[in-house]
Amino acid sequence: MQKTILWEIVPLNQPTITKNCSKCGTKSTFISTGNFRLNANQNKVDVWLIYQCQKCKTTWNMSILTRVNPSAIPQDLYRKFLSNDEDLARKYAFDANIHAHNNVTLNYEELDYDIRGDIILLTGLSEPIRLQIVCNYTMDIRVDKILSQKLGISRSLLKRLGLFGKININNGKELWKTNLSNNLIITILP
Ligand SMILES: [Zn+2]
Repeated sequence: MQKTILWEIVPLNQPTITKNCSKCGTKSTFISTGNFRLNANQNKVDVWLIYQCQKCKTTWNMSILTRVNPSAIPQDLYRKFLSNDEDLARKYAFDANIHAHNNVTLNYEELDYDIRGDIILLTGLSEPIRLQIVCNYTMDIRVDKILSQKLGISRSLLKRLGLFGKININNGKELWKTNLSNNLIITILP
């Protein structure tokens, strides 16, 4: 029997965006405020997520829904927009498609996260381990970085272990070329 260990990657903050700030007159970092703005007009609803310039607090609204019939928005979702639901705001702050529609790109450089789950000690490993990595957000982080942090070994050693076939990823790609995605399975051999 293979032992399965689950790690969950939990973001502690959110990606930012870099765009021109009209007040600063230069490119600046904008951070999600976690607040939505709703506007109802002639039976059409617009919804935005409000961002703020890190330096001068000028706001920028990221369009989420544009001129949508209110009846097309599920009541539960509508209520979450109105109450600035934290999980929903986080979901949109990580949504690369919505950012692309708004002509801005996400910046993950200052993204902080926890790797929750049991520690694996590579030395003294007696049986293969099936490691499942759960991540509910797109985070643009390489898998070898996650492994290196949690296993406490360097990325170059990880690469060697990958080349020797000791650590394998189930998607057929090379460990050190794979980006984090949800439900990656990694096999670690003793
Ligand atoms: Zn500014």
